[in-house]
Amino acid sequence: MDTLELPRLIAALHYAAHQHRDQRRKDEDETPYINHPIALLHILNVEAGVTDADVLIGAVLHDVIEDCSGPHQMYIEDRREEIRARFGESVLVLVEAVTDDKTQTRDERKQRQVEHAAHIPHGAKLIKLADKTANLRDIASMPPAGWSPEKIEDYADWSARVVAGLRGSHAGLEELFDEAWAAQTRANPG
Ligand code: ZN
Repeated sequence: MDTLELPRLIAALHYAAHQHRDQRRKDEDETPYINHPIALLHILNVEAGVTDADVLIGAVLHDVIEDCSGPHQMYIEDRREEIRARFGESVLVLVEAVTDDKTQTRDERKQRQVEHAAHIPHGAKLIKLADKTANLRDIASMPPAGWSPEKIEDYADWSARVVAGLRGSHAGLEELFDEAWAAQTRANPG
């Protein structure tokens, strides 16, 4: 990443922190939501050496369209426009490629992720690989409150099915996912 891109990345962190400020993760300690996009940034850049600025910025913003809720939620169309204006069309394309269609049921969305994984842009595949790795790590170390071992196992299996469609895009990220998968299996033996 060119150091000239650093202000755009910091602006994305600032924007995502603001958009997610009322949200918490689903674990028992209700971790602040912004920890999750920051975890993706860490996986992509620090652990896997990804330096593409649009991919890093897209990772920071990846849940901003889909998962911002609460009293400050703007209309989705407004948020799209905002991302385009502040961070560019190429970032918006990546964010949209990893955003679920909330008009579908939960099962439909999960199935769609499996089917679409192989067909999304390369940068979006990297973001999705990091997302699935971050979520699996969280589930192994601090499972969502009230999740049964079966639910955890189902989630891990579904993640692996999505990742099957992303393989061949980045060996280092795929290895990090496989490690997270193995650690999850050790932490929650079925
Ligand atoms: Zn995510």
